[in-house]
Amino acid sequence: MNDLDLPASNFIRDLILSDNANGKYNGHVHTRFPPEPNGYLHVGHAKSIMLNFGLAEEFGGKCNLRFDDTNPAKEETEYVESIVEDVKWLGADFGGRLLYASNYFQQLYDWAVELIKKGKAFVCDLTSEQVRQTRGTLTEPGQNSPYRDRSVEENLDLFARMKAGEFPDGSRTLRAKIDMASPNLNLRDPVMYRILHADHHRTGNHWCIYPMYDWAHGQCDSIEGITHSICTLEFEDHRPLYDWFLEQLGVFHPQQIEFDRLNLTYTVLSKRKLLQLVEQGVMEGWDDPRMPTISGMRRRGYSPQGLRHFARSLGVSKTNGITEFEKLEYYIREDLNRTALRVMAVLRPLKLVLTNYPEGQVEFVEAVNNPEDAGAGTRSLPFSRELWIEQDDFRETPPKGYYRLYPGNEVRLRYGYIIKCHDVVKDPATGEIKEVHCTYDPQTRSGQQTRKVKSTIHWVSAAEALPVEVRLYEKLFTVENPNESPEGADFTTYLNPKSLEIVHGKAEPSLAKAQPGDRYQFERLGYFCADKLTDAGRLVFNRTVELRDTWAKIQKQR
Ligand code: ATP
Ligand code: MG
Repeated sequence: MNDLDLPASNFIRDLILSDNANGKYNGHVHTRFPPEPNGYLHVGHAKSIMLNFGLAEEFGGKCNLRFDDTNPAKEETEYVESIVEDVKWLGADFGGRLLYASNYFQQLYDWAVELIKKGKAFVCDLTSEQVRQTRGTLTEPGQNSPYRDRSVEENLDLFARMKAGEFPDGSRTLRAKIDMASPNLNLRDPVMYRILHADHHRTGNHWCIYPMYDWAHGQCDSIEGITHSICTLEFEDHRPLYDWFLEQLGVFHPQQIEFDRLNLTYTVLSKRKLLQLVEQGVMEGWDDPRMPTISGMRRRGYSPQGLRHFARSLGVSKTNGITEFEKLEYYIREDLNRTALRVMAVLRPLKLVLTNYPEGQVEFVEAVNNPEDAGAGTRSLPFSRELWIEQDDFRETPPKGYYRLYPGNEVRLRYGYIIKCHDVVKDPATGEIKEVHCTYDPQTRSGQQTRKVKSTIHWVSAAEALPVEVRLYEKLFTVENPNESPEGADFTTYLNPKSLEIVHGKAEPSLAKAQPGDRYQFERLGYFCADKLTDAGRLVFNRTVELRDTWAKIQKQR
């Protein structure tokens, strides 16, 4: 990740700087990004990825990609593959360090045995419901399990038999023996192992007991020599437990540091909720371009660079907030403005006939590929008597302040001529406008010294136009924070029924060579990205983002 400099204010960087100054970890920085493979990555994960990989790079250290695959019930290989693809796409370099918590199942088991031998863990026969009931509350202590004082021998025997598969799911657990009266509920004899006769995507049926996340996580970090274990704020209260385990075992002790999760307006960033949208068929899949997933954003046309710049702009803090979706769009637009080729396409076509242009004649006009990048060159566009223009660029009766095409008015055709409207042809039955008739002024070809007009509109020559399907996306939800409902309604209540509109338009012929993933600016309309072809072989484009910068407006209102 060579273009990644982190935001100016970053308390995590300051902590690392002071660790390095004090010689802690001998100046080494080794971080990790630890996703659970139970869904696709979303833009919140991008923040964590940028932070972990960015800090490692900044301090000449390393960052691992480690799957926290301790829960076989919810995890799938499909998720592992998508996560690897997304991390790579974002430009994060984990070298050969693609790791799995399941690599360490044996070590974790051995350490659990060690804790039993030290009298720090015991096999408990309470059901999960009973464990919950005896846990106490924030104001009242919990109660000791009646199995808490089993002998070491009995515990070793029972734990070995749990592993050997002698007991049914849920019948026993291994619990740490800490303090049922601790004000921190995480320290009230937490469960370390549960019995689960389930196949694991990597270890198959080798295990029927699985470590709890809280038991696995800190030890995995320790095994990998992670110096700075960066995670989100909800794990702050778990840190004393992680510290306790590491101290009992006397192993290498990473420093955990918590930062704020990314939340975005008008969307949800929770794998559980995103999975619900996929499973209910509300979305086409995890990569539906409306999804806040990395794969959805890729399909939508967001560039890795744009996402990195957004993530970099976020900074880190100790309080959770909510970031405007418009800010994300601002960074995406900025990047596309520099890189996307300009083309002309008409989304809602209306036929325009230049009645004084010779029939059958085609001439070519020169169009600039990217005004932000002189190296992108120019291309030739066919121009002829019959063109497509945007329905919206014509009004039979113009409202006040309308400067585009209407009877009697002149506009310029982008890269072409000045035209003047003199007539419309309507469907006699419906009254719908079928054609707009204009004359062109041959003396006004673009590039010549000529008079000025108030408006320039885009167009596509009808004979050469490519039919395209264009998917226009709006916000996924109708409210800023769909997670918070005063009435307690499910978040899906706020899905925006207009989040997708499909139109059939016409594009300039150069788009015939568009490959899935190619990004363009359709002049005057926004940025668009080529999708997969439809079954009928038709080109499909997804609208990435509109041209208008709404983020600037939001900032002004502050
Ligand atoms: P979700 O709530 O979406 O299921 P998670 O935290 O359970 O997310 P993990 O796979 O455990 O997802 O996350 C991997 C890493 O990404 C963790 O270190 C987690 O803290 C971080 N992360 C997850 N969501 C966000 C977010 N919204 N902002 C920043 N970091 C995040
Ligand atoms: Mg999680």
